[in-house]
Amino acid sequence: MTEIKYIGHILSASGLKPDEEKVRAVVQLPPPEDKQELLRFRGMIQYLAKFIPNLSEMQARKEWVLSYYRRSFKEEISCTDELLFKAEKLIVPQQLRQEMLSKIHESHLGIVKCKARARDILYWPGMSTQIEEIVSQCAACNENKNSNPREPLIPHPLPGRPWEKIGTDLFHHKGSEFLLWVDYFSKYPEIAKLSDTNSRGVITSMKSMFARHGIPDIVVSDNGPQYASAEFKTFTESWEFEHVTSSPKHAQSNGQAERMVQTIKNLLKKSVQ
Ligand SMILES: [Zn+2]
Repeated sequence: MTEIKYIGHILSASGLKPDEEKVRAVVQLPPPEDKQELLRFRGMIQYLAKFIPNLSEMQARKEWVLSYYRRSFKEEISCTDELLFKAEKLIVPQQLRQEMLSKIHESHLGIVKCKARARDILYWPGMSTQIEEIVSQCAACNENKNSNPREPLIPHPLPGRPWEKIGTDLFHHKGSEFLLWVDYFSKYPEIAKLSDTNSRGVITSMKSMFARHGIPDIVVSDNGPQYASAEFKTFTESWEFEHVTSSPKHAQSNGQAERMVQTIKNLLKKSVQ
């Protein structure tokens, strides 16, 4: 005897392997139609999980793909042959972005051409800013700067679509704290009452806003402690959006949100008069 069948497993000289009969049963299982059938189905799959060596990797990838269906441009997303696209552009996974940045920068064409070249075929949240960073630090690109067309001097170009870039700010009104968002494209504002003004409170509120409108590419805020915490940084990384603060480099970045706060406050005042 070389093999022993033991509750759905086969113990053999070459180790543990799945019982083929059981695998066949799983494959032939009709699609589950109610909750009970679904639970049974999940149980059967769980049994096979230990024979799939990179299951957690596959699950992480599935989560990553699903996260793009939660973004504001979800209508443009498609998936073919394991590749994820935003319209015609390939969405580059995190592990490959550094390599892609080097490739984009390979021929030292300067910021404008590098960005234009990349934008036609590739996408990931924050790609343009990362190209700017890497190219601006390159001596060769800087030397050739004069022979390259200059980046137009528009500090905040209009985003290409709604909910791509949003500004956010906290404000106080009649004993309560509020969080405001404003979309840079449509100027659409939204406010929510905060249960807590710390990072966690702001993150919770942002998550529910993202669930309604999708995850934006860029969030602009001031340097408030809520946005400077490690917790907030982890949030930006796991939800993959770029966080820009009104640092000296982007002096008036949050102006849009700050102006909107004034407008909203005036509206609130008038509404209670
Ligand atoms: Zn260069």
